[in-house]
Amino acid sequence: MRRRKRPSDGRVAAGGDATPPLPGLEPSPAVAPPAAHIESDASRKYSPSKLDTYRDCPCRYRYRYVDHLRREVASVEAYLGTCVHRALQKLYEGISHGRKSSLDETLGMFEAEWDAGWSSDVLIKNVAYTPENYRAVGRECVRSYYEAQQPFDRDKTVAVEKRLGFPLVCGGEQFRIEGFVDRLALAADGTFEVHDYKTSGSLPSQEDLDQDWQLGIYDIAVRHNWPDARAVRLVWHFVRFGKDMASVRGFDQRQRLQEDVAALILSIKHDHEFVPRRSALCGWCEYREICPLWAHAERVKSLSPRQRHRDDGVKLVDEYGALESKKRDLREKLRELETDQQSIEEALIAFADRQGWQGIAGSEGEVVITEKEEYRFPTRTHAPEAYEEIERELKVTSLWKDVSRLDAHRLMDGYRRGEWDAQAMQALSEMLARHSSHIELVKKRILRFHRKEAEDS
Ligand code: SF4
Repeated sequence: MRRRKRPSDGRVAAGGDATPPLPGLEPSPAVAPPAAHIESDASRKYSPSKLDTYRDCPCRYRYRYVDHLRREVASVEAYLGTCVHRALQKLYEGISHGRKSSLDETLGMFEAEWDAGWSSDVLIKNVAYTPENYRAVGRECVRSYYEAQQPFDRDKTVAVEKRLGFPLVCGGEQFRIEGFVDRLALAADGTFEVHDYKTSGSLPSQEDLDQDWQLGIYDIAVRHNWPDARAVRLVWHFVRFGKDMASVRGFDQRQRLQEDVAALILSIKHDHEFVPRRSALCGWCEYREICPLWAHAERVKSLSPRQRHRDDGVKLVDEYGALESKKRDLREKLRELETDQQSIEEALIAFADRQGWQGIAGSEGEVVITEKEEYRFPTRTHAPEAYEEIERELKVTSLWKDVSRLDAHRLMDGYRRGEWDAQAMQALSEMLARHSSHIELVKKRILRFHRKEAEDS
């Protein structure tokens, strides 16, 4: 499918994840003003790419699907994907009608698509490459796919660019999950195959694909539309690499996926903030000039160097960055001093041991050496198995109540992520409501300085 899909680097910066409001708790008005109310999402229909947009960035979702702000900007990567998809779509439409195009004809379809739609508005982020470089990549994608699949008799094409969906009940309401499959085919053994063309320049691991939502959703859709389907195979064609990969989902995985999709739809429905989520995707986002995280950067980009240096925001960030650099240098210096001090400590201990002394005098003071015993326990990070074993053993003793304590951060983090089952979440929600007079939700402003090189990469 030619929906934009790029690996997220998982970075979440200022803003971060939206925290669901606790029952009965409001942010302290003295700390942060309440966020402006944003219309909630009124959708009844969700495609896998629409759901992915929310998972990647709720703010981008809001602009596109709640505010319906249309942008005609296409990245060159998306454009290349569209042209390759259209050429392969035409190829299979011909095959379905008894006409198999040659490789040259299929390449011609790709070229025709490219020429018909190309405009200088297509965004090339990496200026080291020209449109011709991308066109050549597209041609190679078509060629490698064609050569790998010919003579195109491994399966029977059921449909290309097929709309597929199924109904899903979330929170007592009915929604429809629906999208387009690049190609749906029937293998010789009767297995339905969902084929997806990928033109991206990265190859995911098998583990990543076994977790993939998009095609997992189409697996459910195929079974809904053809209840007699004996088996469904999900097939990705990574055409830049000439590599095909497949995944088969079990009953439990499909159930879990439906639950996850329902939970995500409910989160979208309850979201009134649509907090921006900074990630590598921002580089391709069409809403940067209005996004709260990037609007200033976009504005100063158009200023002359002189105007830029006079901009209040730029001045403040430059000062902030300079202080961050100084702090980093001082931390580095401190680390060096600690290393030096450690070697002197070792020399002092050796000297004291040789002499049998516990106090060593200097010109301006003395160092006293004492001995102390301490236990080093395994940590959850460095030795999780040993840590868990000790924890397990302690839990069944009366000691546990004295040595364990509430981890409020962990508790609220799990609540925010909706990590536990519905019963546990409900119990927690009720508990939080009961103690709402003692638990304060404070919104803090966290500033993080991002160096430019990191952003641009
Ligand atoms: S620029 Fe980034 S944070 Fe802003 S809306 Fe787009 S994806 Fe979200």
